[in-house]
Amino acid sequence: MSAGSEQHPLRVAIVGSGPSGFYAAEGLLKSGRMVRLDMFERLPAPFGLVRHGVAPDHPKLKEPIRIYDRIARVPEFRLLGNVTVGRDVSVEELRAAYHAVLFCCGAESDRRLGIPGEDLPGSHTATEFVGWYNAHPDYRDREFDLSQEVAVIIGQGNVAIDVCRILAKTVDELKHTDIAAHALECLAASRIREIHLIGRRGPAQAKFTTKEFRELGELADCDPVVDPADLELNTESLAELEDRAGSVAKKNLEVLKGFASRPARPTRRRVFLRFLLSPVELLDDGGGGGGGGRLEQVVLERNRLEGGPFRQTARATGERLTLACGLLFRSIGYKGVAIPGVPFDPRQGVFPSRDGRIVDEAGAVIPGLYAAGWIKRGPTGIIGTNRADSMATVNSLLADLPTLDTGPKLGAEGLAGLRPGQGPRVVSYADWLVIDGAEVQRGASKGKPREKFTRVAEMLRLLDRPFREKPTEP
Ligand code: NAP
Repeated sequence: MSAGSEQHPLRVAIVGSGPSGFYAAEGLLKSGRMVRLDMFERLPAPFGLVRHGVAPDHPKLKEPIRIYDRIARVPEFRLLGNVTVGRDVSVEELRAAYHAVLFCCGAESDRRLGIPGEDLPGSHTATEFVGWYNAHPDYRDREFDLSQEVAVIIGQGNVAIDVCRILAKTVDELKHTDIAAHALECLAASRIREIHLIGRRGPAQAKFTTKEFRELGELADCDPVVDPADLELNTESLAELEDRAGSVAKKNLEVLKGFASRPARPTRRRVFLRFLLSPVELLDDGGGGGGGGRLEQVVLERNRLEGGPFRQTARATGERLTLACGLLFRSIGYKGVAIPGVPFDPRQGVFPSRDGRIVDEAGAVIPGLYAAGWIKRGPTGIIGTNRADSMATVNSLLADLPTLDTGPKLGAEGLAGLRPGQGPRVVSYADWLVIDGAEVQRGASKGKPREKFTRVAEMLRLLDRPFREKPTEP
């Protein structure tokens, strides 16, 4: 008999507590089957990128947390926070303890530029900066030299826009958000005057969405700067704008034209939107990328576009220019990270899968292993995109029920590494609510929605009692 009945519930381990994990939980809970869900999260705080990725000045984008909160309170769901799969419990152990293991662990690392000097002090990934200002414990101690006057951001996606906005905003624009206190303090002392947002292709190929892009023109003390010559498009780009698939680009172009034509204000900071440029080398104060110094200049190469509409790629022209900058952020896309015991495609940074079913090197489905969200499809789309993606994987899982290992499964109780006194202090959802309440309280006196804890130990110290099984009130 396949699992999913009152006597024989379907036990699923969900690895990761971001949007794709919660949407997968929602799909399973609404499946009409009797399920028991254990969600594993390596931090004591749930919600993944919604907590640690969404920009602090975009509180509306964090509203899905209300839905996740409702899911987390149902009796069939348990959070096992502060547990790292692959370290505290192995994938093999999970496979033995659950009918299915569903990986929703996102994309925690970054693509590389692959150019000399990429790792010079002063050159950072957007992930580090975003994690730092969002109080992610992994990035708490990162340092960004905001005494520099020129910052460069490579990439023109929404993450690049977030990084740009946080660098460009005044303290007054940020102080009532949930930005980490340490970041606000550093940003308050920032001497940055120029931010260069650099795309390797043209304005019609920029990846940002219009609403986010438009905000660059609404900042209190920073103006966008656009060279009108950059807005003269080639025939292929014009064709893209006329196509329905180019509707966002068309709106972005309108915003760019507005930026280019408006009178300049005497602002403290300016954002230069620059196109058809690729970084080819980062130079230190000794003039080279390997000299042990810190970032002083970025060498850029001018590109031209090649290929038909929607297939245009950047081709180097050989013309080079240098830009003096002491701070650079690489915002060229995230990448998933491997977990021992799961096939991994290092090039794409995903767990290879078919319809959400994880496959081995030969392309054969590994029974009982599933993926959803960014670790399945790569780092694209907005938070809501993950709902349909997770539902599709859940449908595959449900369709497989007759073929899954149908024996009784113990769930978390079957995991030796999590027995009391043996492994990490497991953080339940009720425990999280204690941490959550404390953060909200810390923020109240500053007029912030919350002041996040930035260290795991700080959060665990709050949990006086050993383990809270379930929240006490709905
Ligand atoms: P993204 O949208 O894929 O943008 C990546 C950017 O990096 C593109 O401009 C890309 O240019 C460029 N790039 C890639 N490789 C490069 C290279 N080797 N050299 C130079 N440039 C390179 O990624 P993202 O900004 O990290 O965003 C990830 C996802 O999260 C997106 O779906 C985004 O919309 C979403 N997000 C949404 C929000 C929001 O809704 N407010 C906020 C943040 C993130 P090409 O186009 O030429 O490849």
